[in-house]
Amino acid sequence: MLQTPSRRDGQPSRRFKFAIVGSGFAGLAAAIRIKQSGDDDFIVLERAADLGGVWRDNRYPGCACDVESHLYSLSFAPNPNWSHEFSAQPEILAYLRRRAQEAGVLSRINFSTEVRRMTWVESAGEWSIDTSQGSYKARFVFVAAGSLSNPSIPNLRDLESFRGQVLHSGAWPEDADLSGKSVAVIGTGASAVQLIPKIQPIVARLHIFQRSAPWVMPRHDAPISKHKQEEYRRHPRRLQLERGKLYVRHEILAFAFRHPIVMRMGQRHTIKHMHGAISDPRLREKLTPNYTQGCKRILFSNDYYPTLTRPNVELIAAEATGVTPQGIVGDDGIERKVDIIICATGFNVKDPPYAHYIFGTEGQSLANAWAGSPKTFAGTTVHGFPNLFLLNGPNVGLAHTSVILMIETQVEHALSAIRYADRSGRMIVEPRADAQARFTSWIDRQMRGTVWTTGGCKSWYLDGTGRNSALWPSYTFTFRSRVAKARRADYEIRGPQYSPALASRP
Ligand SMILES: Cc1cc2nc3c(=O)[nH]c(=O)nc-3n(C[C@H](O)[C@H](O)[C@H](O)COP(=O)(O)OP(=O)(O)OC[C@H]3O[C@@H](n4cnc5c(N)ncnc54)[C@H](O)[C@@H]3O)c2cc1C
Repeated sequence: MLQTPSRRDGQPSRRFKFAIVGSGFAGLAAAIRIKQSGDDDFIVLERAADLGGVWRDNRYPGCACDVESHLYSLSFAPNPNWSHEFSAQPEILAYLRRRAQEAGVLSRINFSTEVRRMTWVESAGEWSIDTSQGSYKARFVFVAAGSLSNPSIPNLRDLESFRGQVLHSGAWPEDADLSGKSVAVIGTGASAVQLIPKIQPIVARLHIFQRSAPWVMPRHDAPISKHKQEEYRRHPRRLQLERGKLYVRHEILAFAFRHPIVMRMGQRHTIKHMHGAISDPRLREKLTPNYTQGCKRILFSNDYYPTLTRPNVELIAAEATGVTPQGIVGDDGIERKVDIIICATGFNVKDPPYAHYIFGTEGQSLANAWAGSPKTFAGTTVHGFPNLFLLNGPNVGLAHTSVILMIETQVEHALSAIRYADRSGRMIVEPRADAQARFTSWIDRQMRGTVWTTGGCKSWYLDGTGRNSALWPSYTFTFRSRVAKARRADYEIRGPQYSPALASRP
């Protein structure tokens, strides 16, 4: 647990040039970049008692990143000491804590401070922010509240009647004890595939409810030797080169998502991977996906398929629909007696909570403005919501590489847009409606023909209107070249005269 500072000159300071909501990868990237740019007038508001976002909350056994750590880290804060190609959750969390400390932003995080409402005040050219710890004012707000930070709980009939324990992979309790228990896991997505091989040896019985079979590719993990770590410490260029190689390898993958025919060719290898571990034809059939690889998130594991062949494991190709006091019932109608139900059911991504508490120029909420299908300019700003920057929000998610590449580009975009306002001496910067409309139609055009829209699945990438408003439809270098530097013509600069003295108003 970290401390809760944020006092300047001994007094609580409530007005800042920048407020950042959230202290996961995105919030910390913004805070560090702002500080590096020489601006010290910022605060980070974090609802939890520690930093780290998903890497604080996802403590389930086996939790790790699925993009290599040398790419899944901040470009301006490389880590020569990663112990594995794909590092585990404790190491990623320790990395974030260390970087925040070293960059001097830790003392700027107000922990246990939940943002509850943000209202735009046009006359002042700033946001009024209500939190669980009182109110703040900020000229610019970065919303880094995460897209995978609110666990989605499945709709199970009579859930409250269950006498055992219900856990969610995304809010894993430190004292969870599964040994010798009969356990049900609901879901076979990214978290389940990491979790299941780790818990199978210690539980008595494991019942896995699978709604649709995932594509599971081999995972090329390995320890990184002490010798290699030392080499990276001594020769940072070699570390950069390694990152560069990983970057290129992942970008090539993006081609397959954009051209499903290439993806279908790759499916043969994935099927071979599955058949190599599973010989039972009935199990093979259950595990063969009925949509094109990549339409839903591709998973990576070497031990998931072998685990499913163990005698204490049952894979149920059915949806969990309800519970009894001592068990769980699937839509196959069978009750299985269990002590613990683990929901590995992902997160509520379609309706981000922040959209309901942010109110823009017309007094409308972001959720109202979006009407179920988020639209942005450059994935980062929204017409009608001036001086607001969404990090890792709509249409910047990735299926092929590290999302940190996108987050860093977004922060650069935001800081360059803010510079236009600062230089012109005005308080307000807002994306033009026509720029946003052009950006959105470009996204929608790029999305056509991709595996996400043609792959024959119903994924969480698609919103209620059928648009893919979650993912970036192209390469990350395309995002960089289109977005990193904001164009003056895409923004309206207006509002009261800005004077640095305003920043220090009480
Ligand atoms: C298990 C797991 C593995 C993953 N692996 C990868 C990977 O390998 N590669 C990859 O690219 N991506 C991966 N991701 C995606 C991951 O979400 C991003 O990479 C990244 O960590 C998200 O960072 P973030 O800062 O945007 O959000 P988060 O990490 O979710 O942080 C958001 C923060 O905002 C805080 N917050 C939310 N609402 C409020 C509020 N109202 N007031 C105050 N604070 C608030 C939350 O408490 C949280 O600390 C993974 C996700 C999970 C869950």
